[in-house]
Amino acid sequence: MRKMTTSLKGISVRGWECEKCHEEMIHPEDAQKVLEIEKARKKNLLTVKLRKVGKSNVITVPKIIMETEHLKEGQKFEWKKEGKKFVLIS
Ligand SMILES: [Zn+2]
Repeated sequence: MRKMTTSLKGISVRGWECEKCHEEMIHPEDAQKVLEIEKARKKNLLTVKLRKVGKSNVITVPKIIMETEHLKEGQKFEWKKEGKKFVLIS
């Protein structure tokens, strides 16, 4: 098997290619990532987990959002309460 990078549903993924039959195998982590992105695209919703880092509570911003929303480190955000929802505004 030869390591390669390919595209799955327009998303760059890592994988392996069989040198004999050219069958492609997608890295399971990346296959999972594509599934999540697909789900997010359909629902316009992405689920993240709240984690504790030291004494802070941290919510990660998935790479796909960083890229599509052109977010940068150091950028400021606002949490806005909208009825029962908390909305993050960039
Ligand atoms: Zn093969």
